[in-house]
Formats: sequence, C-alpha cells, structure tokens
Amino acid sequence: MPVSSSRIAARMRRIKPSPTSAAQDRTAQLKREGRDIINLVVGEPDFDTPEPIRKAACAAIERGETRYTQTSGTLALREAISAKFERENGLKYSPSEIIVTCGAKHAIFNTLAVTLEAGDEVIIPAPYWVSYPDMTLANDGTPVPVVCREEDGFCLTPEALETAITPRTRWLILNSPNNPTGAAYSRERLAELARVLMKHPQVLVMTDDIYEHIRFDGEQTTHLLVVEPGLRDRTVVINGVSKTFAMTGWRIGYAAGPKDIIAALDMLQSQSTSNPSSVSQAAALAALTQPMDFLPEWVATYRRRRDRGLELINAIPGLSCRAPGGAFYLYVNCGGLIGKGTPDGATLESDLDVVMYLLEYANVAMVAGTPYGVSPFLRMSIATSEANIENACLRMSAAIRKLK
Ligand code: PLP
Repeated sequence: MPVSSSRIAARMRRIKPSPTSAAQDRTAQLKREGRDIINLVVGEPDFDTPEPIRKAACAAIERGETRYTQTSGTLALREAISAKFERENGLKYSPSEIIVTCGAKHAIFNTLAVTLEAGDEVIIPAPYWVSYPDMTLANDGTPVPVVCREEDGFCLTPEALETAITPRTRWLILNSPNNPTGAAYSRERLAELARVLMKHPQVLVMTDDIYEHIRFDGEQTTHLLVVEPGLRDRTVVINGVSKTFAMTGWRIGYAAGPKDIIAALDMLQSQSTSNPSSVSQAAALAALTQPMDFLPEWVATYRRRRDRGLELINAIPGLSCRAPGGAFYLYVNCGGLIGKGTPDGATLESDLDVVMYLLEYANVAMVAGTPYGVSPFLRMSIATSEANIENACLRMSAAIRKLK
C-alpha cells in the first residue's frame, strides 16, 4: 500500500485541541490587542512554587543532577511517593509499583495507551476533565460519558455505573475532587460504587487524585482503595505535584498500580520521553518530603474566593452555582440565559454562545460547559484574586442586564 495522501495520521483526526488551551490562547490574543479581559479560564494555582522547593531544584543543578535518571524516576523520589501514599492516603505501594511521569496528564495518557485495545470502552463520569475523552480516542478507545446530574451533586450513582458497564468496559475514570465541578466523593458513595465494580472484574479503575488537598469542607479525600482494598490489583492511582504545590510548569506526575501495568508504562516511557526532567524530580522530592506549611493558607484563600464568587454569582438572575467541595473552579449553571436575546439581535442558544457574549460584552473569559460534557454551564476558575472575581461578577451582571 502506498502511504496515505494526508501526512497527518487518521488518529489525529479523532481528537481536537484542548478547549481550555484554546480559550487561554484567545484570551491572550485579546489582551495583546489591548482589551482589558479578566481571565477566569486558568486551571493552575496563581501562587508561586514554595521557596524551599525552588531552592532544592537550584541545589540539584549545582550538585550536577542534570543527567538521565532511571526511566521510572529516581529511587529517592519513588520512595518519597511511596511514603506519601502511606502517610496521606493509607495506601501501600513499593517504589517498584510507582512510575514518575511528565505530569499527571502524561501518566493518564500512557496508562490508556498501554491498556486499550480498539473499541475498548472507557466510562467517564460527566462533567469530566476535557482531556479524558480525547486521550481515550487517541488510543483507539471509545469514551462512554455518563452524565452526573447537578441534583446528585455531580457524582456518579451506582445505578448509572451499573447501566454503563458492558463486556467491553476496560476503564472507569474517577476524579475526586472533580474538575470542573469540585464534586468530592463521600466514603459512602465510594463504597456503593465499589460494590458495583466488585461484580465486574474486567473493569479497571483509574483514580485521578490531583486535587486531593484542595478541599473546602474540612474533609480529607478518602481513597477508593481504602474503602475497598479488593480493587487494588485493577486500580491505577494517578497523582502529581502540579496543583497542590503550584508546580504546573515543572511537569511531574506519577502513577501507582499493579506491577504489569507499571512495567508496561516503564517500557513505553523508555521508548518515548525517557525520564521526566531530573531537576524537576529533585524539586518534587523536596515537595513531598518537606512540611506543607504553605497549604492551609492557600486553601483558606481559595475558600474565601469560592465563597465570594458563590455569593455574587447566585445574586445574578439567570446564573446559579452549587458550592464545590474542592478544586478551584465554580461550575455555574447558565440555563436561565439560554433563549435570551443580545443587544445586537442574536439569541443565546448554548453555553458556548453565553461564553462568547460575556467575552464580548463583559470582557470576562471563561470556558463553556459543553466540552466538559454537561450543558449549559460555565467553568469559572477561582485561581485568581478576589478583586478579579468581584470585578468579573460585576461586569457579568451588567452585561446580563442588557439581555432581553
Ligand atoms: N487531572 C485533572 C483532573 C486536571 O484538571 C489536570 C490539569 O488541569 C490534570 C490531571 C493534569 O495535571 P498535570 O499538570 O500534572 O499534567
């Protein structure tokens, strides 16, 4: 067979650019054009990486830790991750059951890459982090979104899980606290889901715990495996330092799981990226072994912003928002604006239209709910100052009053 006339592989036509990156690029472009845009798109902490972590990275450079490390990450870092799992989550993983990756995103992508056969189904509770369906498609899988209703606190119910499982189900992806809704699963709900999963041994479970420490309800994030240790040999735990330690740019994530999957991840990594940056690994080691004394203050700050944002949003006719239990987003219901007419004669047909309207008339940038799988909603990041949140709400309120 001759090569295809398109130089771009067919698998690339299955996926689309990340809508958050697209919204971020559009916002940056408008800012360059001189528009005074309030950016509520961002999905990263607005704090600096704590100083001891930055210093540890500089010291690693000075010590000459600038060469390849083991593909799966340094033993010191994997030992620190192992200790973190035991200390914070009550989970026991030896360093040989852990791999360090270039961000949690890389860990999720590679885990799908090493396990999915064409047509395998991946159950993704919606609203979901935008990348899960595209990563599934990129690896020949079939995403199976399962809508979690606002009335159910945006959490997957055991009934919905049972209905979604088929003989082709390969994965369930559970993300708690959730991006974009902030929903955090209770121990009781995890136990109900575990009961369903125990009946279906072909289903693997991926837990994405990246927001575990950003909780507003004083609760600790309970892990599914603490509730049901019987799922251990088919669960992959994903985590990383990006959100907790404000280290999004350092690109360190990790996965822990059964030895065969970790070995496959190691092999794929050895033939693709090799080890994550040695300097970033040294920084992550400091992050996981030093006191997290910065965190209570950061969480209290997110909480103040969340409370102020909720108060202002819920006072705007047409918008409403439930209090998220964690993460740093408000998932705002904008159903009350659908069908309204704009001053230039258009009708707001969807949350995508609402986002464009608010960008145009309020100079506020957000992401629509559509790419997160449940509409009509707006995802508003609270990883920005309280003044920005207040200003954005004032501007949105004024723009919404102009609708007919
Ligand atoms: N998982 C979720 C739910 C996220 O929201 C994100 C980032 O936005 C990631 C994973 C990726 O994290 P990392 O920066 O470690 O790749």
